[in-house]
Amino acid sequence: MQESDLTVRRIKDGTVIDHIDQGKGIKVLEALEIDGKEGNVITIALNVPSGKSKKKDIIKVENRYLEDDDTNKLAVIAPKSTVNIIKNYKLVQKRRVSLPNEIERIFRCSNPECVTNSTEHIESTMDVVDKSGLVLKCRYCSRILDVNKLKYYQKNLE
Ligand SMILES: [Zn+2]
Repeated sequence: MQESDLTVRRIKDGTVIDHIDQGKGIKVLEALEIDGKEGNVITIALNVPSGKSKKKDIIKVENRYLEDDDTNKLAVIAPKSTVNIIKNYKLVQKRRVSLPNEIERIFRCSNPECVTNSTEHIESTMDVVDKSGLVLKCRYCSRILDVNKLKYYQKNLE
């Protein structure tokens, strides 16, 4: 096996997230809660040369198929990324992530007074007011939110 085969190791079943903006790979892992605890093989490649003087990050997760919820998160963090679903070494689905008009539940509103942060069980809803600048607006308190500073909901709250 050549060294290049190791870095671009093909996977049998799972998800390849490609074309992640350089430097966003780690954020994507965090947002999708990919931490290796499930025991799946995860390959992370950062700063991979991509075209003319460009670089990208790539994440491969074996034995896990990304859900729509996850795809929405990707759209906010790495809007240029593509999601490739691999089954039995074959590419069975290629999804381009697209930013929805509204984002439910993914992020917490940064306003501590916001009703979505109270003990009442109200989940956040944010309107995407600027798709290219990734500006969100909380539907409950109208605060304008910077995506890069928002905290994510945890999937498994105990
Ligand atoms: Zn709010």
